Amino acid sequence: MDGLYDIVGRRIHYLRVAVTDRCNFRCQYCMPSDGVKWTEHDNILRYEELLRIIHAFTSLGIDKVRITGGEPLVRKGLIPFLKKVTAIAGIKEVVLTTNGSMLEEYAPLLKKAGVKRVNVSLDTLYPERFKKITGQDALHQVLAGIKKAQAVGLTPIKINMVVMKDFNSDELVDFANLAMENPYQIRFIEYMPFCSDKNYLFTAAEIKQQLITAGFTTMLPEVSNNSPAQVYRFPQSQGSIGFITPVSQHFCSSCNRIRLTPDGNLKPCLLSNQEYSLRDVLRAGISDQELLDTIRQVVWNKPMEHELKKGKKSERGMYRIGG
Ligand code: SAM
Ligand code: SF4
Repeated sequence: MDGLYDIVGRRIHYLRVAVTDRCNFRCQYCMPSDGVKWTEHDNILRYEELLRIIHAFTSLGIDKVRITGGEPLVRKGLIPFLKKVTAIAGIKEVVLTTNGSMLEEYAPLLKKAGVKRVNVSLDTLYPERFKKITGQDALHQVLAGIKKAQAVGLTPIKINMVVMKDFNSDELVDFANLAMENPYQIRFIEYMPFCSDKNYLFTAAEIKQQLITAGFTTMLPEVSNNSPAQVYRFPQSQGSIGFITPVSQHFCSSCNRIRLTPDGNLKPCLLSNQEYSLRDVLRAGISDQELLDTIRQVVWNKPMEHELKKGKKSERGMYRIGG
């Protein structure tokens, strides 16, 4: 059987690569409040190591790569690296997730490097609240970055909003209106308790109800390929909305992805602590064939489903995993 499969028959063809854990934001839901400890530089995978791993994955059938972090655009040398990734035969799509703060400058370079599109994180449209969530007064930069990405054709742009109860859950209608008026896919993401025990969870069912109450009564379902989002369009809307429900309704049975952390661990499930260090075996001189066998083995043992509901959490914040 060609391709990468796990023990229950899920085909894994989507690799998410976190190229750094560094970030110019300090989003409350992503980083610990008692201070961030960056991974030492020597322990972060070098670009040559990343390319070797990505090549190995593509020879096993991976055809989509997402570059993420931390904030990927803060890592030096990213654009030449991306040019090499997009040139790898077999990869159909290289996409990037960013906080958008440097996107105005980088969007043309990303497009030129062959990146297909971007996901941008945006949790509020109020400048003060933005500062409170991210630690930076940078809302205007992010909005300018989104416009630039649209102008250069890094499309369709997906905007990720982590919905937090009593924090930004009063802005759902404003975000739905963004989808009405712009060709963006606004994705409402359920908050996952990584770094905080606060109960910010506002479920997709609650979000939908709030939108219906506000008059968005017709939501036309759309097919969403390769994505865990349930996507809908409003009549006459330019864009769409999506719901990502890792907590209220997990989508483990259709999971098609695997993650590589900045320090070189393969992480077959976002919400499990099961990890395997590729960095260590790479630096110990593993052969190409052994690397392929190792990847097959790690994918084979991908956890059947996450254990968030049982109260088990990832020991890493999202910035050290790559969302
Ligand atoms: N820095 C980039 C960004 O913010 O888009 C990429 C990395 S960030 C870790 C990737 C995604 O993870 C973001 O969309 C962010 O909103 C999401 N994320 C981080 N912590 C989360 C949490 N506790 N619950 C849900 N999503 C989270
Ligand atoms: Fe940085 Fe992204 Fe985490 Fe915010 S969500 S702290 S921008 S890595």
